[in-house]
Amino acid sequence: MDLPHKGILQSPALAQYLYETSVYPREHEQLKKLREATVNKYGNLAETAVPVDEGRFLSLLVKIMNPKRTLEIGVFTGYSLLSTALALPDDGLITAIDISREHYEVGLPCIKEAGLAHKINFIESPATPALDQLILNTTHQGEELFDFAFVDADKTSYKDYHEQIVKLVKVGGVIAYDNTLWFGFVAKEEAEVPERFRNDRNAILQLNKFLASDPRVDVAQISVGDGITLCRRIQ
Ligand code: SAM
Ligand code: CA
Repeated sequence: MDLPHKGILQSPALAQYLYETSVYPREHEQLKKLREATVNKYGNLAETAVPVDEGRFLSLLVKIMNPKRTLEIGVFTGYSLLSTALALPDDGLITAIDISREHYEVGLPCIKEAGLAHKINFIESPATPALDQLILNTTHQGEELFDFAFVDADKTSYKDYHEQIVKLVKVGGVIAYDNTLWFGFVAKEEAEVPERFRNDRNAILQLNKFLASDPRVDVAQISVGDGITLCRRIQ
C-alpha cells in the first residue's frame, strides 16, 4: 500500500537535508541495519516505522527523562523500540506490546546485536487486555508505575488507551502519542481525505480535541515526523 508523504516538513528535499545533516551521522549501526532489514522485508510498508528524525527525538527525550520503566504500544519491527532501548539506563525496562510478534522478529537480531534484548519485555497481545493486565499488576501486585509511554498502534483506539495509560503512568511521567497530525489530513476537509484514511483521521481529531482539555495532563504538540503529542501527567 502506498502511503502519502508522512513528514510535515515543506518538502522531501528538506527532510533529506535534515536526515543527512543531523540524523544519519549519529544513527546507531544496529538502528541502520534494522531500518534496512525492514525495507528488505516489507518494501514500502517500511514507512510505517517512525521516521529517523523522530527516532532521534525519542532517544534524546528518553535520555533527558532518564526513565526506569517505559511502555511501548505498537512495535512493528522495532525502530522506535531500539531508539528507546539505546537511550534507557542499563537497568531500565521497556514493556513492549504488539498484536503480532512476526514483525518484531525482523528487527530482533539487531536489538540482540546491540546487546539490548535484556531491556525489553515483549508481549504479543492486543493492547487493551495487555494494558488491563498491567493495571491489575500495579494495583494488586504492587508493580511500579511507568515513567514514559510511547503509543503507535491502531489510531482508532488511542482514546481508549489513554484512559488505561493515565492509570499506568506516574504523575510527572510522559505519554507520547504518535501520528497526531495524520499526514496533515487533520487540517483538511473530509472530502479531500482519501477514504481509507478517514476513520483514523476522525479518531485522531477526537483524540486531539479531548487531550486539549483533559485536566489530568499537560500537553504539547510536537511537529516532528507525523506529529507527536506529548502528555505529562499532572494528576
Ligand atoms: N513504532 C513502530 C516503529 O517504529 O516501527 C511502528 C508501529 S506500526 C505504525 C503499528 C503497529 O501496531 C503494528 O506493528 C501493528 O501490529 C500494531 N497494532 C495494531 N493494532 C494493535 C492492537 N490492537 N494492539 C496492539 N498492537 C497493535
Ligand atoms: Ca507511527
